[in-house]
Amino acid sequence: MTVQVYTGGCQCGATRFRITGPVKGSSICHCRMCQKAFGAFFAPLVDIGDAELVWTRGEPKHFQSSNHVKRGFCPECGTPLTYEAADGMAVATGAFDEPSQLAPTVQYGIEGRLPFMDSLHRLPERHTMDDIEAAPFLADIVSRQHPDHDTETWPEGGTS
Ligand SMILES: [Zn+2]
Ligand SMILES: [Zn+2]
Repeated sequence: MTVQVYTGGCQCGATRFRITGPVKGSSICHCRMCQKAFGAFFAPLVDIGDAELVWTRGEPKHFQSSNHVKRGFCPECGTPLTYEAADGMAVATGAFDEPSQLAPTVQYGIEGRLPFMDSLHRLPERHTMDDIEAAPFLADIVSRQHPDHDTETWPEGGTS
């Protein structure tokens, strides 16, 4: 039997996780609290079920967003990372190293779904480099985002 292992972390790389075991499900939540917590139109979350989560670098800080739920985020860069409730824990889908493996299968909190959600796929489409004339800094941009795999040391050249 193949053991399923998922890795991921925040944008800056100070907070990294490893999840071992099958995850329970992938969803998006449109509720207003999830919108606010992610600064986004909805929250993409993977319910990890009985899988084991280990923080392999750093640990999230938490905001107790209600009497029943706390939300974890990277204390260094603020990337939203978790939704933690009495009935389980979910991890932000976009924080996984390979979010393409985790297609959502259900939408929650649809009372909060923003009215333009259903027409997003009709918007004009542009690649990042299509805007090079309007944003010439893109030509020599240097990313400080942690790569989509575990690293021995981070930032590169650092000591821990
Ligand atoms: Zn971070
Ligand atoms: Zn929600």
